[in-house]
Amino acid sequence: MTPPADSNQSVSGCEVCMPPDAKQAWESSKNLKRMQQLVHDSHFWVSLHRCPACGQRFVFIFTELIDWDQGDDSQAFMHVPVTEEEASKLRTLDPDHIGSKTIMDLLGPRRYLEEILPTRSGPDPDWPVSDDDHCCRGVRWSEGPVFVLPHD
Ligand SMILES: [Zn+2]
Repeated sequence: MTPPADSNQSVSGCEVCMPPDAKQAWESSKNLKRMQQLVHDSHFWVSLHRCPACGQRFVFIFTELIDWDQGDDSQAFMHVPVTEEEASKLRTLDPDHIGSKTIMDLLGPRRYLEEILPTRSGPDPDWPVSDDDHCCRGVRWSEGPVFVLPHD
């Protein structure tokens, strides 16, 4: 499937950035070009990316919720395809006011890649900068409203 020249408004993606297999998509996501970091917090990370093959925009979201009792922090990683218009709106937001709800309000239902790690021993603040060891434990395609988990 070849995207049309003016594919900026679509969230169709291509075989490279949105293959049917979620694990393959996760691997491919490492090759997305980072355009802009919007939020860089130890428990909340938001950045804009672009597929080098088709130009599809993605917003990457990392959320972490600290488990103060057990130390088993829950983490979620998401790659959500967005239109150029949505990407522009995200860019104009005040980074200090971007939260899970802001993103959910902005983005309608769609197909997106997510990995949720409900329990995990210890946070990994270096992720996703150095992501060589992290692999696909619960990655899947989700369909519907973009649900961004709460974070600390
Ligand atoms: Zn693509």
